[in-house]
Amino acid sequence: MAKYDYDLFVIGAGSGGVRAARLAAMSGAKVMVAEEHRVGGTCVIRGCVPKKFMVYASEFSHHFKTAKGYGWTVPEATFDWPTFLAEKDKEIARLSGIYVRNLQNAGAELVHGKARLIDAHTVEVEGHGRYSADKILVATGGRPWLPRELPGCELGITSNEAFHLPELPKSIVIAGGGYIAIEFAGIFNGLGVETTLVHRGPNVLRGFDDDVRAHVTEEMERRGITVLLGCQHTAVEKAPEGLISRLSTDHDVTSDVVMFCLGREPYVEGLNLEAAGVKLSETGAVAVDDYSKSSVDNIWAVGDVTDRINLTPVAIREGQAFAQTVFYDKPTRFDHEMVASAVFSQPPIGSVGMTEAEARHEVGKVDLYLARFRPMKYTFTGQAERSLIKLVVCAATDRVLGCHVVGPDGPEIIQMAAIAMKMGVTKAQWDSTCAVHPTFAEELVTMREKHVPMAMGQEA
Ligand SMILES: Cc1cc2nc3c(=O)[nH]c(=O)nc-3n(C[C@H](O)[C@H](O)[C@H](O)COP(=O)(O)OP(=O)(O)OC[C@H]3O[C@@H](n4cnc5c(N)ncnc54)[C@H](O)[C@@H]3O)c2cc1C
Repeated sequence: MAKYDYDLFVIGAGSGGVRAARLAAMSGAKVMVAEEHRVGGTCVIRGCVPKKFMVYASEFSHHFKTAKGYGWTVPEATFDWPTFLAEKDKEIARLSGIYVRNLQNAGAELVHGKARLIDAHTVEVEGHGRYSADKILVATGGRPWLPRELPGCELGITSNEAFHLPELPKSIVIAGGGYIAIEFAGIFNGLGVETTLVHRGPNVLRGFDDDVRAHVTEEMERRGITVLLGCQHTAVEKAPEGLISRLSTDHDVTSDVVMFCLGREPYVEGLNLEAAGVKLSETGAVAVDDYSKSSVDNIWAVGDVTDRINLTPVAIREGQAFAQTVFYDKPTRFDHEMVASAVFSQPPIGSVGMTEAEARHEVGKVDLYLARFRPMKYTFTGQAERSLIKLVVCAATDRVLGCHVVGPDGPEIIQMAAIAMKMGVTKAQWDSTCAVHPTFAEELVTMREKHVPMAMGQEA
C-alpha cells in the first residue's frame, strides 16, 4: 500500500501550479491540485488575459482618431461597458474550462477549497478534509498590496475589482507607478474615463530604463492622463460628489473610483507554512533554491509566491523545471536571465536585458543607440505621438545588453529581440541584419550613430 494518498499535492491552480501538475501527472505520478478560487489563477481570471482584453477595448478610441486622419468618417462612437464585461467573462470562463480539462486529461485530480499545511506531508482543504502527499508544491501566487493604515483605504479598489466594476466610472484616481497602474491608466483613459495617476516617486515604472520611463510619462500625458508625481494619498474620503483623494501635496482630487496599484505581495496568508518549517524570505516570499526547493526537503514553490520575476511565462517555466527535476529525473533550473517583458501602456513597451543604469553598473563603459521618432502611421494624422527605441551595448565586447522599445507593437518586437540577445548577439551582428521595410521595427537595425546623453544641466 502506498505510504501517502498522493505523490504530489499542488496548492494553487494558476500558471505555475497547473503546468507543474500536468507534467507530473503525465509522468504517471498521482497528483492532486487544490484551488480556492477559479482554475487559471491570476493570469487567466484577474490578470494578463482580462487586462489585455481591456487594453484592446480601450485602444479603439485612439484608432477612431487615427482613422479620421486617413479620411474615414467616424460617427460619434459609444462604448457599452456591460456588453464588454459579458463577452470578456464568457471568454475567461472558456479559458478556465480549458485549464480544468487539461488537468483532467493529464490525469490530475482537482479539489476546490483553501488549502493549508498541517505538517510537511499533510494538506488540509477547507470543506474536504486532509490529504497526505510525498511531495508538496506551493504555487499560490501573489495578491495586491494595500496601504491598510491609510484612512479610507477600504473605499478604494484594486486590480481584482477593476475587472468587475458594475459601471464604467466617469473619473478615476489610480495610485501607483508600476506596470499595472500604468496599464490601467491607459485602459480607463482610452475608455473615456477622466484619469489621474498619483505616484509618490519622481518617475513611473521603477526598474525600467530611465529614457523609457520619461518617454512613457510624456506620452501618457499627451493622451490626456493627468500624472501627479512626487505625491501620495494621505486619505480617501467619501463625499456626495464622489471619493476625495487627499494628497501629500495638499492637492485634492475628486473621482468616482480610487484604485490602488501599489504593488503585489506573495500570497502565503493562511497557508500555515510554519507547521512544516518552510522558511520565508525578507519580502515574505517562500525562500527557494535554484531548483525551486524550499527549506523543507519535500516542499517546493514556484511562481509569484517566490517573488523572483513575477510574470506568467516565468511561473510556467519554473513549474516545468520543477516537474522535470522531480518527476523526470532531469535536474533543470530555469534561467532568469534575459527575460523579456511588456507593459501594455498606450503606447506599449517591450524591454529585455539591462537598463542603461544597470549596464553602467555591471560592465562600466557602454555605447548607447537611441531613436525617437513619429511612427509612420501618424505622420499625417495630426497625432503627435512619438516612439522610442534604445539599445545598450557593452563597449568592450560589443554585446547587446539591453533593448527597449516604446511604440506600436513594442511587446511583439521584443520577443524576437530577446532570442538574439539570449544567444549573445553583438551590435555588429545586429547591424548586419537587413531591415524589413517599411516597418516600425526596422529602426532597430538602422541605428548607426552612438547616442551621447546630455550631461546634467545641459538640457534645453
Ligand atoms: C492585473 C495584472 C496584470 C498582469 N499582467 C501580466 C502580463 O501582461 N504578463 C505577464 O507575464 N504577467 C502578468 N501578470 C502577472 C501574472 O498574472 C502572474 O505572474 C502569474 O499569474 C503568476 O502565476 P502563479 O502560478 O505564480 O500564481 P497565480 O496565477 O496567482 O495562481 C495562484 C493560484 O493559487 C490559488 N491559491 C492561493 N492560495 C491558495 C490556497 N491556500 N489554497 C488553494 N488555492 C490557493 C489562487 O486562487 C490562484 O488561483 C499580471 C498580474 C496582474 C495582477
